[in-house]
Amino acid sequence: MPDVVVIGAGVVGAACAHYAARAGLDVVVLDRGPVAGGTTGAGEGNVLVSDKEPGPELDLAVLSAGLWRELAGLGGFEYEPKGGLVVAEDDEVLAALTALAAGQGVEHTVVDAGRLTDYEPHLAQGFAGGVFYPQDAQVQPMLAAATLLREGAQGVQGAGRGTLSLRTGVTVTGFLRDGERVTGVRTDRGDIPAGAVVNAAGTWGGEVAALAGVHLPILPRRGFILVTEPLDEPLVLHKVYTAAYVTNVASDSAGLETSAVVEGTPSGPVLIGASRERVGFDRTVSIPVLERLARQAVELFPALAARRVIRAYCGFRPYCPDHLPVIGEDPRAPGLYHACGHEGAGIGLAPATGHLIAQALTGARPGLDLDPFRPDRFDPDRSGTGTPAKEG
Ligand SMILES: Cc1cc2nc3c(=O)[nH]c(=O)nc-3n(C[C@H](O)[C@H](O)[C@H](O)COP(=O)(O)OP(=O)(O)OC[C@H]3O[C@@H](n4cnc5c(N)ncnc54)[C@H](O)[C@@H]3O)c2cc1C
Repeated sequence: MPDVVVIGAGVVGAACAHYAARAGLDVVVLDRGPVAGGTTGAGEGNVLVSDKEPGPELDLAVLSAGLWRELAGLGGFEYEPKGGLVVAEDDEVLAALTALAAGQGVEHTVVDAGRLTDYEPHLAQGFAGGVFYPQDAQVQPMLAAATLLREGAQGVQGAGRGTLSLRTGVTVTGFLRDGERVTGVRTDRGDIPAGAVVNAAGTWGGEVAALAGVHLPILPRRGFILVTEPLDEPLVLHKVYTAAYVTNVASDSAGLETSAVVEGTPSGPVLIGASRERVGFDRTVSIPVLERLARQAVELFPALAARRVIRAYCGFRPYCPDHLPVIGEDPRAPGLYHACGHEGAGIGLAPATGHLIAQALTGARPGLDLDPFRPDRFDPDRSGTGTPAKEG
């Protein structure tokens, strides 16, 4: 019997499995589809500290940024510690950005208007200034997820400690119970008893939680990304976005919000993300959304106007009403741990989440206070059995 079953082979499930195996546990990862076939395969790969307000998510992001740097040593996926430049449209916005950066307490440099082109030679004129964050980075999320699983399986087994095995094409349909305690999963391929179960089902984390009779208010928040033709020479050197992005990320609105985050990739194409809207799981391509993203990207980098977009894709962020992920054991269903609901930051936050889940599974003292992420925080009386919280 495995110590742990992880539901979901996205980047978060892969990180949970990786760190649990490194901590000496025998882990089985299940996914109804392929590795990274969920939102992980539709993300952009920003690992950002710059867009986080001071508080628990920023603490998680800083921990995660350091862990990504370590994990990059495994090889097998692109990791670019290129830094991020946030630009301000006017002096008022620049003052707000500068105040945010001071409050974050992370490494940053305030950049005068006249110095912006030292960072980004092709940036449009007219910005009031910006803030540069050297810790912002980029990972290729699909290969990163696959690498975490592979290295968890090979490296850790070789060291004679925990084990990690992956089973794709297996759908979890329910839970095994001993009273309230979760003792394994029911799947379309049979039951799998386990010491503990981790719900890393991303945007579907609420549905999986419901199979255990507990409520997590995770909703899909759709996002589109544009991909340009490969450029002959680098046009965009860092992650570049306007201050409006920070506001969009933190917004509770269900309506459409767009603010371009632009970045070059080693293979040549420029990625332009991303829109945000709550329209359920609707995959219909929205030309007006794509046009808005393209226009905003050209406002940042006018030279992009002459480049063609070769494709667009969309995915569904796992949105929680308070914009924080759900991490930790569920007091309403002991033995069930959640690691889901990371919205637009799950790639960045995956290693810290996996690390904290492994600590919780092994009874180690958590490296961060898990209380802000607790699974029952949406229940009105915090002891409840699934009363839906009010959503923003
Ligand atoms: C357009 C867009 C841009 C983004 N850009 C970024 C970015 O730049 N940086 C960043 O950090 N984040 C970004 N994100 C968010 C990020 O992609 C997600 O937060 C992250 O991928 C979530 O990973 P996950 O492993 O939790 O979920 P997923 O990758 O969705 O994995 C969940 C897995 O669970 C499986 N599953 C679900 N139910 C079951 C079941 N019953 N049985 C078995 N398996 C099941 C699914 O098949 C899926 O593979 C972006 C998202 C979008 C949409």
